[in-house]
Amino acid sequence: MLYHAYNLGDGAQNPQIWEEELMSVARFSPVNEYKVVVKRQLALTSLEDFAVLLRDGHFDLGNGFHSTSYMNPHALFDRPSVVLRLAQDLLDVIELVPFFIKRQTQVVAGPVTGGAQLAFVMAAFLDGVSKKGARVFHAPIHKIDGKLMMRKHYQELVQGKRVLLADDVRNTGSTFKEAFELVSACGGEVIATTELYDRLSVIHELPVPNIPLAEYRLEQDLVPADQCPQCKLGIPITRF
Ligand SMILES: [Zn+2]
Repeated sequence: MLYHAYNLGDGAQNPQIWEEELMSVARFSPVNEYKVVVKRQLALTSLEDFAVLLRDGHFDLGNGFHSTSYMNPHALFDRPSVVLRLAQDLLDVIELVPFFIKRQTQVVAGPVTGGAQLAFVMAAFLDGVSKKGARVFHAPIHKIDGKLMMRKHYQELVQGKRVLLADDVRNTGSTFKEAFELVSACGGEVIATTELYDRLSVIHELPVPNIPLAEYRLEQDLVPADQCPQCKLGIPITRF
């Protein structure tokens, strides 16, 4: 009887749908929103601890700008144990948002330029853990002559499947956009994009949810090299 008090529509007549609807109500709760905020804050700290996110320094970004912050994904991918931990943290965040992404995902795909290792680990964590033991596959996306592509085996794999796109960092969103178009052209359905770190500077929005583990706007402290206050003070600069 309690269930009907939630006015959950058709779900009240069907236990399986009801369960999903009740979960969606629970997932919108302020408690879960709070948990996501805390997890994102902890993730930022983790990225700093692992020297992936460098703050409070003086960095040459190599594009004519200097900054007090720098994002170095290579510091992540040379330590597989860190990828495992952050992939699990990211899945925890995905579990808290109300889109049922974990149970819908059939393939986790990521570009080999950054997200493939993360996508591989996420697929491993998701594979066979649903109630019905549904398989979850991994599909790497290659970059050839500056263009994203999938090998024939993976083109056939994503056909007709629900695909979660994973990457290390979201900058303008152009990589996700190109990957979205690639998967769609192969007959797959992208259900969401997810990344360890969103620079909050997206230009290419997609018609699916995006779920970052951590968010931080690096651009807020960008300065043109010839106007850099740290250079004027003679503070040594770091280049990568
Ligand atoms: Zn400078």
